[in-house]
Amino acid sequence: MVGSLYKTGQLNSIFIFFVVFLVGIYWIYSSELQRENEQYLLLGQVVNSQASTIERRLSHSLSTTYILAQELRRANGEFVDFDKYAREVIRTISGVSNLQLAPKGIIAQIYPLKGNEKAIGHNLLVDDSRKKEAHMAIAKRKLTLAGPFDLIQGGVAVIGRNPVFIEGQDGEYFWGFTSALIFLNDLISITDLRQLESAGYSFEISRLHPDSGKEEVFARSISGLSFATYSTGVSVPNGTWKLTMSRVSSGVKIFLISGTIGSFFTALIISMLSLRIFREPHRLKSVVEEKTKELEYFAFHDPLTGLANRQRLRESLERQIQEMKAKDKYLTVMYVDLDDFKRVNDTMGHEAGDRLLQIVAKRIKGSVRNNDMVARLGGDEFAILLADLDGRDDAVTIASNVIQSIVLPVHLGPREAIVSATCGITVFPEDSENADELLRYADLALYASKRSGKNRYGFFEQDMQKEAHRWLYLEDELLNAIRNNELILVYQPVYSLGSGEVARLEALIRWNHPQRGLLLPESFIDIAEQTGLIIPLGQWILKEVCEFIREGSEYVQDVPVISVNISARQVSEPNFAEYVIGVLDKFKVTPAGMELEITETMVMEDVEFSLKVLNRLRNAGLRLAMDDFGTGHSSLSQLKRLPIDTLKIDRSFIIDIETDSQDYQIIEVIVAMARKLGVAVVAEGIESKTQLELLKQAGCDMGQGIYFGEPEGRDNLKI
Ligand code: C2E
Ligand code: MG
Ligand code: MG
Repeated sequence: MVGSLYKTGQLNSIFIFFVVFLVGIYWIYSSELQRENEQYLLLGQVVNSQASTIERRLSHSLSTTYILAQELRRANGEFVDFDKYAREVIRTISGVSNLQLAPKGIIAQIYPLKGNEKAIGHNLLVDDSRKKEAHMAIAKRKLTLAGPFDLIQGGVAVIGRNPVFIEGQDGEYFWGFTSALIFLNDLISITDLRQLESAGYSFEISRLHPDSGKEEVFARSISGLSFATYSTGVSVPNGTWKLTMSRVSSGVKIFLISGTIGSFFTALIISMLSLRIFREPHRLKSVVEEKTKELEYFAFHDPLTGLANRQRLRESLERQIQEMKAKDKYLTVMYVDLDDFKRVNDTMGHEAGDRLLQIVAKRIKGSVRNNDMVARLGGDEFAILLADLDGRDDAVTIASNVIQSIVLPVHLGPREAIVSATCGITVFPEDSENADELLRYADLALYASKRSGKNRYGFFEQDMQKEAHRWLYLEDELLNAIRNNELILVYQPVYSLGSGEVARLEALIRWNHPQRGLLLPESFIDIAEQTGLIIPLGQWILKEVCEFIREGSEYVQDVPVISVNISARQVSEPNFAEYVIGVLDKFKVTPAGMELEITETMVMEDVEFSLKVLNRLRNAGLRLAMDDFGTGHSSLSQLKRLPIDTLKIDRSFIIDIETDSQDYQIIEVIVAMARKLGVAVVAEGIESKTQLELLKQAGCDMGQGIYFGEPEGRDNLKI
C-alpha cells in the first residue's frame, strides 16, 4: 500500500516534469516565432522604405537628363557652355557623377571630363554593349537605364539615357542623348543602407540580366544575407531591380538555449516539489506507523524499565494457563514489592528512585530463567510469571534468589541505598485456574507477607481473601472513624520506680467502634499504616495531645511529659520533624513536654535518614524514646548514635521475668548498657508486684503496666 503510493507519487512527478518542460519549450518557441514575425514585418518596412528611397533618388538624379534635354530644345540643339551648365546642375542635384551629351549617339561632351576622357567619341548606337538600350530609348522615346556595369574608367555605375527629339524645319528629329552617369556607390550612399548595415542588416540589390535573363547581384553589403530575408522590387526605368535584406538576430540562439535550460530546471524544481507533496502522505503514513508501533510498545511495556506491563502480563498468563493445563505443569505468579521505596524517592529524589527501579528490574531479570516473564505493575511493584514448574519448591528457590538479588546495595550516584523486597506467590492450578484470580491472589499473598514483616516471601492461602475483605472494609470504616470522632486517646501512667511518682503519660489510641465496641490498636493500626491513613490519624493524635498538655483536664492540672507513639510511615514523611515542631509551636506547648516513641526497626531501615529526623526533633527540645527495645536487631554501635532519652524494654522480657532467670539477666544487661549511654530505662507491661520488685531490683528507672491500673481517657484520668 505504502509502496504503491510511493510509486504513484514518482510517476506523477515524472509526468509533471514533462508537462512543465514541454509547456516551457512551447512558450519559448512560440514567443521566438512571434518575435521573428515582428522582425520580419519590421524588415519588410525597412526594405520597402529603402527601395522607395532608391527609386526616388534614382529618378531624382536621372531628372538631370531632362534638364539637359530641355536646355537643348530651348537652344535648338546648340548647347552653349555645357560645362558651366552641367556643373550647376550637378551641384544642385546630388548623386550624379557626370553628365554627357551624345549628339547622334556619339559621346561628345562630358562634365566633368577628368577621368572620363576615354569615353569621348564613343558611339552608343554602334557599340555592342550599348546599342540595344540606345535603340530602345530612341524607339520608345523614353529614358532608359543602362547597367549597372563596370565602367571603362573603373567603378560600377548606371547610366540614364534620355533620347532628345528637337523640332526642326523638317519636323521633329532625333538629336542625340543626354546622359547621366550615376555611380552605384553614390546612389547607395544617399540611402540608409550603409547605416543599416552597421545595425546588423545585410542587403543585396540585383536585377535580371537583360541578355542572359539570369539574376545578377550588383550591390551587396559586406556581410552576406542570413536565413530570413525579405525582398521587394525597385522600379527603375525600363526594368525592376530587387532589393533583398535580412537581419542577423544574434540573441536568438542564446534565448532559445537559455529558455530551454530554464524550462528544464523549472520543470525539475516543480516536479521535485510535487514529489515532496506526493510523498507527504507517504511520509505521514510512515510517521503514523512508527508512532503506532511506539504506542503499541508502550501499551505493553513499561517505559522506565522496558519490562512488560500489567496488560502484557495478563495476556501472557492467560496463554500460559492453557499451555500448562495441557502439559500438566505448575505455574506461579509472583508479586514483588520493594520495602520502603518511597523513602528512597523522598530522600534521594525521583531520579534516584527511577534509577533504583531500573537496577532492580535488571536484578530480577537476572535471577529468573530467560523465558520467565518479568513485568512492572507500577510504582515499586513487579511481577514474575514462572511457567513449567514441577512444584512449589521451584518457586521458593526463585523467590529467594530474587529477594537476595534485590537486597544487595545499590549505588545511586555518591550514595548507596539498601532496599529489600517482599514477595507474594500464588500457584496454578492449586490456588486457582483463573488469570484474574491468580493475579489478585499474588497481590494478597504479597500484602500478607508484608504485614508479617518485610524482606520475605509468602504463599497465598485461602483465608487471606477473608482477611483482605476485612481490611478493605476496615479501611473504609477507619476513614469514617476519623471523620466521626470515633477515635479516642487513653493515657497510661509511667511511674518513676524510685519515687513512685508519675513521670510520663503514654498516649494510646482506641477506636470507639459503634458496633464492635472499644477496639485496641492491634486491630487497626496496621491497616492505618498500610493505607497511609496513619498520617491524618497521627496528625489528629498530635493535636489531641497538645490540647491536653495545654489545657490539662478535670483531675490533671500539671500534665506530666506525654509519650506519643509514632509509626514508621510518619517518620518517613517528608518534613515530619518540621510538622511536629510547627504543631507544638501553634499550641504553645514546650517541646520538652512531649516524648516521641519510635521503634528499633523503623530506625534500622534507614539509619542516616532517621538520624537526621531524630536529631532535628531532639535539637528542637523534644524527648525521644526507643520503644519495644529488644525486639529489633539494633546494634550497640547504632544505638550509641541515636539521640534518645529513654529506652523502653519490651513487655516480652517482663512477662516471664519471675520464672525465666535469663530474661532477668537480659534486663540487667540492658540497664547496664543504658547507664553507659546515659539513657533512662522503662519497663513495659508490669502486671504484678513481684515483677515490679524484680524490675526495681534490676535497676529500671520507670515502669508501666496494668498492675498500676488500666489506661484511662483524659477526663477520667486521676494521677
Ligand atoms: P506500645 O507502644 O508498646 O504500647 C504498650 C502496649 O502495651 C499498649 O497496648 C498497652 O495497653 C499495653 N500494655 C501496657 N501495660 C500492659 C500490661 O501490663 N499488660 C498487657 N498485656 N499490656 C499492657 P495498646 O494500647 O494495645 O497498643 C499497642 C501498640 O499499638 C502500642 O505498643 C503502639 O505500638 C501502638 N499504638 C498505640 N497507640 C498508638 C498511637 O497513638 N500511635 C501509634 N502510631 N501507635 C500506637
Ligand atoms: Mg509505646
Ligand atoms: Mg512498647
